[in-house]
Amino acid sequence: MATKKFDYLIIGNSAGGIGCAEGIRRVDTKGTIAMVSDEPYHTYSRPLITHLLEGDVDRKGMDFRPRDFYRRHAVEPLLGFRAEDLNTDGRSVKVIGTNGKAGTRHNLRYGKLLVATGGAPFIPAMDGLGLGGVTPMINLAQSLDVKKRLARVRNAVVLGAGLIGTKTAEALSQVVNRVTMVELADRILAPVSDIRSSRMAADAFRGNGVEVILNNTVTGIQGDEKGQVTEVVLRDGSVLPCDLFVVAIGVRPRTDLLEGSGVELASAKVGGGVEVDLNMETSVEGIYACGDCAHAHDFVTGGMRLLPLWPNAYIGGRIAGLNMAGSPHHHRWATNMNSVDFFGFPMVSAGFMLKPDRKGFEEIVRDEGHWYAKIILQNDVIKGLIMAGRVERAGIYLGLMRGRTKVTAFKRELLTDAFTAVHLPDEVKEEIKKPITVIE
Ligand SMILES: Cc1cc2nc3c(=O)[nH]c(=O)nc-3n(C[C@H](O)[C@H](O)[C@H](O)COP(=O)(O)OP(=O)(O)OC[C@H]3O[C@@H](n4cnc5c(N)ncnc54)[C@H](O)[C@@H]3O)c2cc1C
Repeated sequence: MATKKFDYLIIGNSAGGIGCAEGIRRVDTKGTIAMVSDEPYHTYSRPLITHLLEGDVDRKGMDFRPRDFYRRHAVEPLLGFRAEDLNTDGRSVKVIGTNGKAGTRHNLRYGKLLVATGGAPFIPAMDGLGLGGVTPMINLAQSLDVKKRLARVRNAVVLGAGLIGTKTAEALSQVVNRVTMVELADRILAPVSDIRSSRMAADAFRGNGVEVILNNTVTGIQGDEKGQVTEVVLRDGSVLPCDLFVVAIGVRPRTDLLEGSGVELASAKVGGGVEVDLNMETSVEGIYACGDCAHAHDFVTGGMRLLPLWPNAYIGGRIAGLNMAGSPHHHRWATNMNSVDFFGFPMVSAGFMLKPDRKGFEEIVRDEGHWYAKIILQNDVIKGLIMAGRVERAGIYLGLMRGRTKVTAFKRELLTDAFTAVHLPDEVKEEIKKPITVIE
């Protein structure tokens, strides 16, 4: 087994990994970098995998960076290699070839390591999971497999109506006869909405032909003699014909590489994930983590938590890279922030979705039937935002939120038609112009 030595080793070739390589290169143009991923593909935008299904985007259009990214950043890509056996004392990781490269192994020694291994789908124990046409939807290979199958699919069932489930159901509805979304909670998009906005989003799905079943789940999967899924059984005993069953009930941090390594992991009670500080460094010096596998500082709550979102992964990686290369930076940019659009129905949410039942919190609501907005304030600082149906001013509110700006002087106007950026203090105007993905 060949041994190679790199100044920087990055595990994960997605938002976090790319952010890290770019962060390192801002400071260190000479140090050697290797980037490992068990996926064989050039870096791609994971949120677009559902768009590929409906043909909204092609494979090339999914590239997160141009094809010459690795060359231009002097990064050695090891794509199609799974990292195993982290030895924190010896500062080394073994990588093993997957797919076409099976059997190839390398021992990689590193100066500094970033773990950006993302998430693994949560799959409930159930008979029938091995049937053809039963799949999670978290990576390009799964999306390509489903795409190949689509011509034969008449009835698709999506289990779970979070961000991944809803995006999958919307995409499938463009290309499949009948799509049903089954959700255990009493509403869709629960982590990124309140009851009112969730109902509006569910109406958008129903209005576009997607059946939405709430307070229910799938308890059984049936198949035919060829090993292909044919129907799913719901908890209430009803049966849905099904030739594509997508399981999208959640993603948990992928931390298998770190188990037993001495790197501190958060407890299962808080969802697991790698514990990091504001520099994105773990409990072991020289090892950093970011993105879906790690915690991050939530500027709204002030605590560390899982924030499995693309911009958080990228910025966390970039901050990690800057620190790894010796330029001290803190990651204080994240919160639960989402922007989606289903069938032309836009929705933006950030921070608290529901007003905490504590002193100092209040909410301002405007409900116009076809559009709805809610702002949650704590002592006149915006701590939560939902806009559904109309989102034009979301950028201004998010800027105020990020800037922790006191809105006392214009609080009553916030949700009126007359409110514009003109109301803002000059320094806030400058702040909200900055794109959050650029950290220097
Ligand atoms: C369908 C879908 C839609 C989404 N939509 C949105 C959206 O609209 N907005 C948003 O903000 N976020 C969205 N997300 C979430 C977003 O994609 C993630 O937050 C983001 O991809 C996390 O980036 P990451 O770098 O942490 O990890 P990932 O993107 O998960 O990448 C981690 C990589 O590391 C590899 N890896 C893991 N372990 C190993 C190992 N041991 N050895 C080698 N390689 C390994 C993985 O295979 C993977 O390639 C969506 C996700 C999905 C699946």
